[in-house]
Amino acid sequence: MSSAAAAPLTLMAVHAHPDDESTSTGGLLAHYALRGVRTIVVTCTDGDLGDGPGGVKPGQDGHDPREVAAVRQGELRRACEHLGVSDLELLGYHDSGMAGWGLQDRDNAFCGVPVEHAASRIALLINRYQPQVVVTYDPDSTRHPDHVHAARATTLAVDAGQLVAKLYYKAHGSSYWQRLNQALAEVGIQRAAPSGETLRILETVEQRITTIVDVSQVVDRKRTALHAHASQIGSSLAGKLPTSQYRYAFGTEAYIRTRDTTGTSTPEDDLFTGLGKPQLQLR
Ligand SMILES: [Zn+2]
Repeated sequence: MSSAAAAPLTLMAVHAHPDDESTSTGGLLAHYALRGVRTIVVTCTDGDLGDGPGGVKPGQDGHDPREVAAVRQGELRRACEHLGVSDLELLGYHDSGMAGWGLQDRDNAFCGVPVEHAASRIALLINRYQPQVVVTYDPDSTRHPDHVHAARATTLAVDAGQLVAKLYYKAHGSSYWQRLNQALAEVGIQRAAPSGETLRILETVEQRITTIVDVSQVVDRKRTALHAHASQIGSSLAGKLPTSQYRYAFGTEAYIRTRDTTGTSTPEDDLFTGLGKPQLQLR
């Protein structure tokens, strides 16, 4: 028996902050966990610049980064349980904050860590878990510096090895924002439609989408996982959506296939096309 035949189907999602696994790829993780795929979440930062108690922001009274990190680690573990994640790996860097906050020079802030260094740690995890499929952000359209850094490090780690068959970027394109804004409007939250440069970027992302996964079967788990991040939910637009509007906005997840060794055609509706058939687990 060849060892390749015995390798379990494995999906690795590399994220910047606690909660991104739920907001960004929660449907995908729950969808594949339900189909017997081993799912690994790698979280690069401790999220210590997230909201503190009562929504206080970094630098404000009552915001203790160490406390925030501890709370968020507990929330992350609970969210991963809801999503059926097999293994959670924490790289433990500090949150860099948004550009302009002036916090990116802190010791061990993720963005200050050379991308090659972060990539080598992700590569070690790829060697350990042997995922056929890896997912991260789209470095060309995501705005948070930690997300860009995570995406670049992941891409570098995948390209340095020969193990990963397919690499995907999460796509938040124009149709995603349209559905989200529509769902928000239904509950009385009006947001301006994207325009100008933002719209151009979203339309470019939309055109690059190769893969749309129907996650409607697990969308309620994704919502439960999102709400497990209770300390951050006040800042979350998705957190304001009741069940039915949430289902409408988040029932599908779109991805951009950016590396592929299977030669299978796109568009596709399954990240494991060409690698095996994830089977719905009957329990
Ligand atoms: Zn994030």
